[in-house]
Amino acid sequence: MLTKNKISELLGNIHFEDNKTDIISDGSVKNIVVFDNEIVIDLKILKPTLQAKNTIKRKIIDSLKNNIDFNIDVKVNFVVISEKENTIFNSSRKIENISNIIAISSGKGGVGKSTVTANLAVSLSKMGFNVGVLDADIYGPSIPEMFDVSGQKPLAVDVNGKSKMKPIESYGVKILSIGFFTKIDQAVIWRGPMASKALNQMIFDADWGVLDFLLVDLPPGTGDIHLSIMQSLPISGSVVISTPQKIALNDARKGVSMFKKENINVPVLGIIENMAYFTPEELPDNKYYLFGKEGAKNLSSDLGIPFLGEIPIIQSVREASDIGRPAAMQENTISEDIFNRISKNMLSQLLIRNKELPETEIIKITTMSGCLSQK
Ligand code: ADP
Repeated sequence: MLTKNKISELLGNIHFEDNKTDIISDGSVKNIVVFDNEIVIDLKILKPTLQAKNTIKRKIIDSLKNNIDFNIDVKVNFVVISEKENTIFNSSRKIENISNIIAISSGKGGVGKSTVTANLAVSLSKMGFNVGVLDADIYGPSIPEMFDVSGQKPLAVDVNGKSKMKPIESYGVKILSIGFFTKIDQAVIWRGPMASKALNQMIFDADWGVLDFLLVDLPPGTGDIHLSIMQSLPISGSVVISTPQKIALNDARKGVSMFKKENINVPVLGIIENMAYFTPEELPDNKYYLFGKEGAKNLSSDLGIPFLGEIPIIQSVREASDIGRPAAMQENTISEDIFNRISKNMLSQLLIRNKELPETEIIKITTMSGCLSQK
Protein backbone atom coordinates (compact mmCIF):
# COMPACT_ATOMS: atom_id res chain seq x y z
CA MET A 1 0.00 0.00 0.00
CA LEU A 2 1.15 3.49 -0.83
CA THR A 3 1.93 5.54 2.27
CA LYS A 4 3.06 9.08 2.91
CA ASN A 5 6.17 7.73 4.59
CA LYS A 6 7.12 5.78 1.50
CA ILE A 7 6.67 8.85 -0.74
CA SER A 8 8.55 10.99 1.74
CA GLU A 9 11.41 8.47 1.74
CA LEU A 10 11.62 8.61 -2.07
CA LEU A 11 11.47 12.41 -2.14
CA GLY A 12 14.33 12.40 0.37
CA ASN A 13 16.64 11.50 -2.54
CA ILE A 14 15.73 14.54 -4.62
CA HIS A 15 17.09 18.06 -4.46
CA PHE A 16 16.87 21.31 -6.39
CA GLU A 17 19.71 21.96 -8.86
CA ASP A 18 21.24 24.71 -6.71
CA ASN A 19 20.81 23.04 -3.34
CA LYS A 20 22.60 19.98 -1.98
CA THR A 21 20.02 19.36 0.74
CA ASP A 22 17.14 17.13 -0.32
CA ILE A 23 13.65 18.59 -0.63
CA ILE A 24 12.38 16.82 2.48
CA SER A 25 15.22 17.95 4.73
CA ASP A 26 15.17 21.55 3.49
CA GLY A 27 11.42 21.79 4.15
CA SER A 28 10.49 22.35 0.49
CA VAL A 29 7.88 19.62 0.60
CA LYS A 30 5.01 21.26 2.43
CA ASN A 31 2.49 18.47 2.06
CA ILE A 32 1.96 15.06 0.60
CA VAL A 33 -1.44 13.54 0.07
CA VAL A 34 -1.94 9.95 -0.99
CA PHE A 35 -5.37 8.89 -2.08
CA ASP A 36 -5.63 5.48 -3.72
CA ASN A 37 -3.11 5.72 -6.57
CA GLU A 38 -3.12 9.50 -6.66
CA ILE A 39 -0.26 11.44 -5.12
CA VAL A 40 -0.34 15.19 -4.71
CA ILE A 41 2.75 17.03 -3.52
CA ASP A 42 2.91 20.69 -2.51
CA LEU A 43 6.36 22.00 -3.13
CA LYS A 44 7.69 25.31 -1.92
CA ILE A 45 9.75 26.99 -4.61
CA LEU A 46 11.82 30.14 -4.28
CA LYS A 47 12.73 30.62 -7.94
CA PRO A 48 9.56 29.84 -9.85
CA THR A 49 11.00 29.86 -13.38
CA LEU A 50 9.37 27.47 -15.81
CA GLN A 51 12.61 25.60 -16.22
CA ALA A 52 13.18 25.20 -12.48
CA LYS A 53 9.62 23.98 -12.06
CA ASN A 54 9.83 21.53 -14.94
CA THR A 55 13.18 20.12 -13.83
CA ILE A 56 12.16 19.37 -10.27
CA LYS A 57 8.75 18.10 -11.33
CA ARG A 58 10.35 15.67 -13.78
CA LYS A 59 12.78 14.45 -11.08
CA ILE A 60 9.90 13.83 -8.67
CA ILE A 61 7.67 12.05 -11.19
CA ASP A 62 10.53 9.90 -12.50
CA SER A 63 11.67 8.90 -9.04
CA LEU A 64 8.17 7.95 -7.88
CA LYS A 65 7.23 6.12 -11.07
CA ASN A 66 10.52 4.20 -11.14
CA ASN A 67 10.18 3.09 -7.54
CA ILE A 68 6.49 2.26 -7.35
CA ASP A 69 5.50 -0.79 -9.32
CA PHE A 70 1.94 0.10 -10.18
CA ASN A 71 0.21 2.88 -12.05
CA ILE A 72 0.24 6.17 -10.16
CA ASP A 73 -0.92 9.65 -10.92
CA VAL A 74 1.44 12.29 -9.57
CA LYS A 75 0.62 15.97 -9.28
CA VAL A 76 3.02 18.63 -8.07
CA ASN A 77 1.56 21.95 -6.87
CA PHE A 78 4.07 24.73 -6.64
CA VAL A 79 3.77 27.07 -3.73
CA VAL A 80 5.62 30.22 -4.60
CA ILE A 81 7.02 32.03 -1.60
CA SER A 82 7.25 35.78 -1.59
CA GLU A 83 8.86 37.79 1.19
CA LYS A 84 5.53 38.48 2.82
CA GLU A 85 4.26 34.94 2.59
CA ASN A 86 7.50 33.65 3.94
CA THR A 87 6.90 35.49 7.18
CA ILE A 88 3.42 34.04 7.43
CA PHE A 89 4.86 30.60 6.85
CA ASN A 90 7.09 31.19 9.81
CA SER A 91 4.35 32.55 11.98
CA SER A 92 3.50 30.92 15.27
CA ARG A 93 0.06 30.08 13.88
CA LYS A 94 1.32 27.26 11.77
CA ILE A 95 0.57 23.80 13.02
CA GLU A 96 3.34 21.67 11.68
CA ASN A 97 1.89 18.29 12.40
CA ILE A 98 -1.77 18.77 11.54
CA SER A 99 -2.47 18.33 7.85
CA ASN A 100 -6.17 19.10 7.64
CA ILE A 101 -8.49 20.90 9.99
CA ILE A 102 -12.09 20.28 9.03
CA ALA A 103 -14.91 22.22 10.65
CA ILE A 104 -18.13 20.28 11.13
CA SER A 105 -21.04 22.64 11.52
CA SER A 106 -24.78 22.86 11.55
CA GLY A 107 -27.14 25.78 11.42
CA LYS A 108 -29.39 24.26 14.07
CA GLY A 109 -28.73 22.28 17.22
CA GLY A 110 -29.85 18.67 17.55
CA VAL A 111 -29.43 17.71 13.89
CA GLY A 112 -26.70 15.20 14.71
CA LYS A 113 -23.54 17.26 14.18
CA SER A 114 -21.63 15.64 17.05
CA THR A 115 -22.89 12.16 16.18
CA VAL A 116 -21.68 12.60 12.60
CA THR A 117 -18.35 14.07 13.77
CA ALA A 118 -17.73 11.11 16.08
CA ASN A 119 -18.61 8.56 13.42
CA LEU A 120 -16.59 10.23 10.67
CA ALA A 121 -13.63 10.32 13.06
CA VAL A 122 -13.73 6.57 13.74
CA SER A 123 -14.30 5.83 10.03
CA LEU A 124 -11.23 7.85 9.05
CA SER A 125 -9.25 6.27 11.85
CA LYS A 126 -10.22 2.78 10.70
CA MET A 127 -9.02 3.72 7.20
CA GLY A 128 -5.59 4.25 8.72
CA PHE A 129 -5.53 8.01 9.14
CA ASN A 130 -4.37 9.73 12.32
CA VAL A 131 -7.44 11.53 13.55
CA GLY A 132 -8.20 14.04 16.27
CA VAL A 133 -11.47 15.59 17.34
CA LEU A 134 -11.66 19.02 18.87
CA ASP A 135 -15.03 19.44 20.52
CA ALA A 136 -15.63 23.16 20.27
CA ASP A 137 -19.34 22.98 21.01
CA ILE A 138 -19.26 25.22 24.05
CA TYR A 139 -23.05 25.05 24.46
CA GLY A 140 -23.24 21.27 24.67
CA PRO A 141 -19.93 19.43 24.45
CA SER A 142 -21.07 15.84 23.84
CA ILE A 143 -17.99 14.29 22.24
CA PRO A 144 -16.54 12.96 25.55
CA GLU A 145 -19.73 10.99 26.19
CA MET A 146 -19.87 9.68 22.65
CA PHE A 147 -16.35 8.29 23.11
CA ASP A 148 -16.98 7.12 26.67
CA VAL A 149 -14.33 9.40 28.15
CA SER A 150 -16.42 11.96 29.99
CA GLY A 151 -15.03 12.94 33.35
CA GLN A 152 -11.45 12.34 32.24
CA LYS A 153 -8.90 15.10 32.57
CA PRO A 154 -6.19 15.64 29.98
CA LEU A 155 -2.70 15.46 31.49
CA ALA A 156 -0.03 18.06 31.02
CA VAL A 157 3.08 16.77 29.27
CA ASP A 158 6.41 18.35 28.65
CA VAL A 159 7.20 18.90 24.97
CA ASN A 160 10.58 20.53 24.35
CA GLY A 161 10.42 22.36 27.65
CA LYS A 162 6.83 23.56 27.10
CA SER A 163 3.91 22.22 29.03
CA LYS A 164 1.24 20.89 26.67
CA MET A 165 -2.17 19.31 27.09
CA LYS A 166 -2.30 15.68 26.09
CA PRO A 167 -5.51 14.74 24.25
CA ILE A 168 -7.45 11.77 25.62
CA GLU A 169 -7.42 8.84 23.24
CA SER A 170 -10.39 6.58 22.58
CA TYR A 171 -10.85 4.04 19.75
CA GLY A 172 -7.68 5.41 18.15
CA VAL A 173 -9.04 8.98 18.03
CA LYS A 174 -7.40 11.81 19.99
CA ILE A 175 -9.90 14.03 21.72
CA LEU A 176 -9.93 17.40 23.40
CA SER A 177 -13.19 18.92 24.50
CA ILE A 178 -14.28 21.97 26.31
CA GLY A 179 -16.32 19.40 28.28
CA PHE A 180 -13.14 18.08 29.95
CA PHE A 181 -12.81 21.41 31.70
CA THR A 182 -16.40 21.99 32.79
CA LYS A 183 -18.86 20.01 34.87
CA ILE A 184 -21.38 17.98 32.89
CA ASP A 185 -24.39 19.95 34.12
CA GLN A 186 -22.69 23.32 33.95
CA ALA A 187 -24.14 25.61 31.34
CA VAL A 188 -21.22 26.96 29.45
CA ILE A 189 -22.18 30.39 28.28
CA TRP A 190 -18.81 31.68 27.29
CA ARG A 191 -18.29 34.86 25.46
CA GLY A 192 -16.70 34.56 22.02
CA PRO A 193 -13.19 35.78 22.86
CA MET A 194 -13.00 33.59 25.97
CA ALA A 195 -14.15 30.50 24.14
CA SER A 196 -11.85 31.06 21.22
CA LYS A 197 -8.93 31.58 23.60
CA ALA A 198 -9.67 28.20 25.20
CA LEU A 199 -10.04 26.61 21.78
CA ASN A 200 -6.81 28.13 20.56
CA GLN A 201 -5.07 26.62 23.57
CA MET A 202 -6.57 23.24 22.78
CA ILE A 203 -5.08 23.45 19.31
CA PHE A 204 -1.83 25.30 19.74
CA ASP A 205 -0.90 24.26 23.29
CA ALA A 206 -1.83 20.62 22.90
CA ASP A 207 0.35 17.67 22.08
CA TRP A 208 -1.70 16.33 19.16
CA GLY A 209 1.25 14.55 17.61
CA VAL A 210 0.99 14.00 13.87
CA LEU A 211 -2.58 14.22 12.61
CA ASP A 212 -3.98 13.71 9.13
CA PHE A 213 -7.30 15.15 10.20
CA LEU A 214 -8.48 17.27 13.06
CA LEU A 215 -12.28 17.43 13.01
CA VAL A 216 -13.64 20.45 14.82
CA ASP A 217 -17.16 20.00 16.17
CA LEU A 218 -18.37 23.60 16.06
CA PRO A 219 -21.21 24.98 18.15
CA PRO A 220 -24.47 25.17 16.17
CA GLY A 221 -25.35 28.43 14.48
CA THR A 222 -23.41 31.29 13.01
CA GLY A 223 -22.60 33.67 15.82
CA ASP A 224 -19.58 35.66 16.88
CA ILE A 225 -17.95 32.60 18.35
CA HIS A 226 -17.85 31.04 14.87
CA LEU A 227 -16.26 34.08 13.37
CA SER A 228 -13.54 34.13 15.98
CA ILE A 229 -12.91 30.39 15.62
CA MET A 230 -12.76 30.63 11.82
CA GLN A 231 -10.45 33.58 11.89
CA SER A 232 -8.09 32.20 14.47
CA LEU A 233 -7.86 28.60 13.25
CA PRO A 234 -6.37 27.45 9.98
CA ILE A 235 -9.37 25.54 8.65
CA SER A 236 -8.93 23.61 5.41
CA GLY A 237 -12.58 22.93 4.70
CA SER A 238 -15.98 22.73 6.28
CA VAL A 239 -18.88 20.32 6.25
CA VAL A 240 -22.47 21.32 6.98
CA ILE A 241 -24.89 18.86 8.59
CA SER A 242 -28.62 19.30 8.21
CA THR A 243 -31.81 17.32 8.50
CA PRO A 244 -34.18 17.60 5.52
CA GLN A 245 -36.52 19.80 7.55
CA LYS A 246 -37.23 23.29 6.23
CA ILE A 247 -36.35 25.03 9.47
CA ALA A 248 -32.99 23.21 9.64
CA LEU A 249 -32.30 23.91 5.98
CA ASN A 250 -32.78 27.65 6.39
CA ASP A 251 -30.15 27.63 9.11
CA ALA A 252 -27.86 25.37 7.08
CA ARG A 253 -28.06 27.89 4.24
CA LYS A 254 -26.89 30.59 6.66
CA GLY A 255 -24.06 28.29 7.73
CA VAL A 256 -22.89 27.85 4.16
CA SER A 257 -22.96 31.58 3.50
CA MET A 258 -20.94 32.18 6.67
CA PHE A 259 -18.12 29.99 5.35
CA LYS A 260 -18.26 31.74 1.99
CA LYS A 261 -17.99 35.23 3.44
CA GLU A 262 -15.05 37.16 2.10
CA ASN A 263 -13.27 37.54 5.43
CA ILE A 264 -13.76 33.84 6.26
CA ASN A 265 -13.48 32.12 2.91
CA VAL A 266 -13.36 28.51 4.09
CA PRO A 267 -14.13 26.02 1.29
CA VAL A 268 -17.36 24.12 1.92
CA LEU A 269 -16.57 20.48 1.16
CA GLY A 270 -20.21 19.51 1.19
CA ILE A 271 -23.51 18.98 2.94
CA ILE A 272 -24.52 15.82 4.80
CA GLU A 273 -28.19 14.99 5.26
CA ASN A 274 -28.79 13.40 8.64
CA MET A 275 -32.04 11.75 9.74
CA ALA A 276 -32.91 11.51 6.05
CA TYR A 277 -35.60 8.87 6.62
CA PHE A 278 -36.58 6.04 8.92
CA THR A 279 -36.92 2.38 8.00
CA PRO A 280 -38.41 0.03 10.60
CA GLU A 281 -36.55 -3.23 10.88
CA GLU A 282 -39.71 -5.25 10.28
CA LEU A 283 -40.52 -3.30 7.08
CA PRO A 284 -37.12 -2.91 5.43
CA ASP A 285 -38.57 -1.71 2.12
CA ASN A 286 -40.50 1.13 3.66
CA LYS A 287 -38.90 4.52 4.07
CA TYR A 288 -40.60 7.16 6.14
CA TYR A 289 -39.44 10.69 5.45
CA LEU A 290 -40.20 12.08 8.88
CA PHE A 291 -38.46 15.41 8.35
CA GLY A 292 -39.22 15.78 4.64
CA LYS A 293 -37.60 14.23 1.61
CA GLU A 294 -34.15 15.09 0.25
CA GLY A 295 -34.23 18.63 1.61
CA ALA A 296 -30.48 18.83 2.26
CA LYS A 297 -29.72 17.13 -1.02
CA ASN A 298 -31.79 19.74 -2.86
CA LEU A 299 -30.18 22.53 -0.87
CA SER A 300 -26.74 21.35 -1.93
CA SER A 301 -27.69 21.36 -5.60
CA ASP A 302 -29.34 24.77 -5.16
CA LEU A 303 -26.15 26.18 -3.70
CA GLY A 304 -23.85 24.28 -6.07
CA ILE A 305 -22.19 22.50 -3.16
CA PRO A 306 -21.31 18.79 -3.17
CA PHE A 307 -23.71 16.42 -1.47
CA LEU A 308 -21.66 14.04 0.67
CA GLY A 309 -24.42 11.59 1.53
CA GLU A 310 -27.45 10.83 3.63
CA ILE A 311 -27.77 9.06 6.96
CA PRO A 312 -31.11 7.54 7.92
CA ILE A 313 -32.45 7.51 11.45
CA ILE A 314 -30.93 4.36 12.86
CA GLN A 315 -31.71 3.24 16.37
CA SER A 316 -28.28 1.73 16.85
CA VAL A 317 -26.64 5.06 15.92
CA ARG A 318 -28.42 6.68 18.85
CA GLU A 319 -27.75 3.73 21.16
CA ALA A 320 -24.08 3.62 20.22
CA SER A 321 -23.74 7.32 21.03
CA ASP A 322 -25.36 6.76 24.39
CA ILE A 323 -23.05 3.93 25.37
CA GLY A 324 -20.02 5.80 24.13
CA ARG A 325 -18.94 3.68 21.21
CA PRO A 326 -19.72 5.30 17.82
CA ALA A 327 -21.87 3.08 15.57
CA ALA A 328 -19.32 3.17 12.73
CA MET A 329 -17.04 1.07 14.99
CA GLN A 330 -19.31 -1.94 14.49
CA GLU A 331 -17.96 -4.08 11.65
CA ASN A 332 -20.23 -5.12 8.79
CA THR A 333 -23.12 -2.91 9.71
CA ILE A 334 -25.12 -0.47 7.67
CA SER A 335 -23.78 2.34 9.87
CA GLU A 336 -20.17 1.39 9.19
CA ASP A 337 -20.93 1.35 5.50
CA ILE A 338 -22.75 4.70 5.45
CA PHE A 339 -20.07 6.57 7.39
CA ASN A 340 -17.32 5.01 5.31
CA ARG A 341 -18.96 6.18 2.14
CA ILE A 342 -19.46 9.69 3.48
CA SER A 343 -15.85 9.87 4.74
CA LYS A 344 -14.60 8.87 1.31
CA ASN A 345 -16.79 11.48 -0.38
CA MET A 346 -15.44 14.08 2.01
CA LEU A 347 -11.85 13.09 1.22
CA SER A 348 -12.52 13.25 -2.51
CA GLN A 349 -13.96 16.72 -2.16
CA LEU A 350 -10.98 17.83 -0.13
CA LEU A 351 -8.72 16.66 -2.88
CA ILE A 352 -10.80 18.09 -5.73
CA ARG A 353 -11.20 21.35 -3.88
CA ASN A 354 -7.50 21.88 -3.59
CA LYS A 355 -6.78 20.85 -7.11
CA GLU A 356 -9.40 23.23 -8.43
CA LEU A 357 -8.33 26.23 -6.41
CA PRO A 358 -6.26 28.61 -8.49
CA GLU A 359 -2.65 28.79 -7.42
CA THR A 360 -3.05 32.07 -5.56
CA GLU A 361 -5.87 30.56 -3.55
CA ILE A 362 -3.75 27.56 -2.67
CA ILE A 363 -1.05 29.88 -1.49
CA LYS A 364 -3.57 31.81 0.53
CA ILE A 365 -4.87 28.72 2.24
CA THR A 366 -1.39 27.36 2.64
CA THR A 367 -0.19 30.48 4.32
CA MET A 368 -3.26 30.84 6.48
CA SER A 369 -2.95 27.31 7.66
CA GLY A 370 0.75 26.88 7.51
CA CYS A 371 -0.05 23.47 6.22
CA LEU A 372 -2.27 23.03 3.23
CA SER A 373 -5.04 20.54 3.40
CA GLN A 374 -3.09 18.12 1.30
CA LYS A 375 -0.52 16.05 3.04
P1 ADP B 1 -26.01 18.03 17.61
O1 ADP B 1 -24.56 17.81 17.81
O2 ADP B 1 -26.34 18.54 16.23
O3 ADP B 1 -26.65 18.86 18.67
P2 ADP B 1 -26.31 15.25 18.33
O4 ADP B 1 -25.23 14.62 17.54
O5 ADP B 1 -26.08 15.45 19.79
O6 ADP B 1 -26.75 16.61 17.65
O7 ADP B 1 -27.62 14.38 18.07
C1 ADP B 1 -28.86 14.69 18.68
C2 ADP B 1 -29.56 13.39 19.04
O8 ADP B 1 -29.94 12.67 17.87
C3 ADP B 1 -28.69 12.42 19.84
O9 ADP B 1 -29.51 11.78 20.77
C4 ADP B 1 -28.19 11.43 18.80
O10 ADP B 1 -27.91 10.17 19.36
C5 ADP B 1 -29.38 11.37 17.86
N1 ADP B 1 -29.01 11.08 16.46
C6 ADP B 1 -28.23 11.81 15.66
N2 ADP B 1 -28.15 11.27 14.42
C7 ADP B 1 -28.93 10.14 14.45
C8 ADP B 1 -29.26 9.15 13.47
N3 ADP B 1 -28.81 9.18 12.24
N4 ADP B 1 -30.06 8.11 13.88
C9 ADP B 1 -30.53 8.06 15.15
N5 ADP B 1 -30.27 8.98 16.09
C10 ADP B 1 -29.46 10.02 15.75
